Amino acid sequence: MAEKLDVDETMDGYFGLCPTCHKTDGCLNVSREHWYICKEHKVKWCVGANLFSSWMYETREEQWLEQRKLGFHLFVEVEPFYPCEQQDIGTDEFEDAAEL
Ligand SMILES: [Zn+2]
Repeated sequence: MAEKLDVDETMDGYFGLCPTCHKTDGCLNVSREHWYICKEHKVKWCVGANLFSSWMYETREEQWLEQRKLGFHLFVEVEPFYPCEQQDIGTDEFEDAAEL
């Protein structure tokens, strides 16, 4: 019973959209990271980690199966398109996540 994200909210572009078609097919959880994807153009972009609680309800197997089904490993990481200017998103905050 995976809960789908609100489509309006997703298509709103708050978390970015495919730079080519300005759409997204939604979010995929990879461990605790949230990746938005465009299936048509095979692109992905990470919007952060631990933002949504949805990942907690998925098992590693479920995530892995979903990723394999989509061919997620073939998706190319891109800079997403943002339809409206968002001044409060600082890229600095995301750099901390790279530290192990
Ligand atoms: Zn696209």
